[in-house]
Amino acid sequence: MTGRFAPTPSGRMHIGNMTAMLAAWLDSRARGQRMLLRIEDIDTPRVLPDADRWIMDDLDWLGLDWDGEPVYQSQRIDLYEQALRTFDGQCADDSPIEIDMVPRETPTGVRSDDVAPDTARIPLVYPCFCSRADIRAASAPQEGDGFQIYPGTCRRLMRDRPDMVRERLARGDRHSLRIAMPDIAVSFDDAVFGPQSFDLAHDIGDSVIRRSDGLFGYQFVVTVDDLAMGVDSIVRGRDLLHSTALQTYIRERLIAAGRDDGAAHPAYAHIPLIDNAAGRRLAKRERSLDMGALRSRGVTAAQVTGVCAWLLRLAETPEPIAAHDLLDVFRADGWKPLRAEHADRRLDPDDPLLPRWLADAV
Ligand code: GLU
Repeated sequence: MTGRFAPTPSGRMHIGNMTAMLAAWLDSRARGQRMLLRIEDIDTPRVLPDADRWIMDDLDWLGLDWDGEPVYQSQRIDLYEQALRTFDGQCADDSPIEIDMVPRETPTGVRSDDVAPDTARIPLVYPCFCSRADIRAASAPQEGDGFQIYPGTCRRLMRDRPDMVRERLARGDRHSLRIAMPDIAVSFDDAVFGPQSFDLAHDIGDSVIRRSDGLFGYQFVVTVDDLAMGVDSIVRGRDLLHSTALQTYIRERLIAAGRDDGAAHPAYAHIPLIDNAAGRRLAKRERSLDMGALRSRGVTAAQVTGVCAWLLRLAETPEPIAAHDLLDVFRADGWKPLRAEHADRRLDPDDPLLPRWLADAV
C-alpha cells in the first residue's frame, strides 16, 4: 500500500498539521508501506514562496521521511487536462458504479432506484456561469463547516436552455466547470470515525472541478493525483470526511473512463481537528503555534512529537518521544484509542497536562 503527505504550502505548519502528518506517517511506516510527498500548490494565489521548503524541513526535523522526489501539483497541469478530457461526452446519469459484493472497509457507491429527474441528459461536466454572490443568494444558509451545496442553477440552464449555454460559451462568458452529482449514496468505513454514508446530490452537490480563473479545483486534482500515484491509504483531517464521498465518486468516474482499471479503493482514516484555546480550529495564521515559532523558542522535535502522539491518543501524557519510537506503539494500538475518543481536541492552557511551552503559546 502507499500513503502520502499532502500539505498545502500556504504557510508554516502548526501543531494540528504536524499531528496529521505524524498520523499519516505512522499509518504507512508501521506497516512498512511506501510514503509519498505531494505539495498541493495548485491554488497558486494561496501559495507562499518557500513554504514547500519549510514543510520539508519540518518533516525532516521530526523524523518523518518519505520516498522519492516530492510531487508538485503546479507541475502536473497536463495530467489534469488529460483527466478532464476523459469526461468528454459522458453524461451524469451513466452509472459507472457497480454494486458488487463489497468487502468491508472499502468505499462503494450504492445507486438508489430513482435517478434524479434533472440528471437526465446532463453532461457529467458542465459550465457554470454563477458568481459566488449568485450562489450565496440562491442557497440555503451554510451550516457546519461551511460546505456550500450548489443550488443547481446552471444544471437546469443546461437542461432547459442548451442553446443559451452554447451562446454564452461562444461569447466567452466567464465560467467554471462543475461535475454533476447523481442521486447516489457513497458509503465507506473510516478507520477512526467508523461507517460513513453521504448522499452525493443532497450532501455534496455539483462541485467545481475547474474554477473560473482557470485553476483546477482541489477535489479534482487530489483525486487524479491519488489515482495516478497509486495512493491507497489516506490519512487526513476530519474536515475532509465528506470530501471523501465526492472524491470516491470522481475516482469511480475516472476509472470507468479508463484512467486506471487496477486501482484498489483507498483505506481512509480521518483524524480529529485541533482547536485553539478559544475553541476555534487552528489556522496557519496563528503564528504562535507554528513550527517556526516553536523551533525558534528551543522546543525540541521529541517535545512536539510527544504532544502530537498525545493528541492522537497514542500516549496518556504528552511526554517527549521520537517519531520512530512511536512505530511500535502504533503497531500495537493502531487507531483503536482514537476511534474510542475522536472528538476534536482543544488546547486548553489551564490543562495541567499541557507542557509549559505549549500552554504559553496557545
Ligand atoms: N492539501 C490538503 C490540506 O492541506 C489536504 C488534502 C488531502 O489530504 O486530501 O488541507
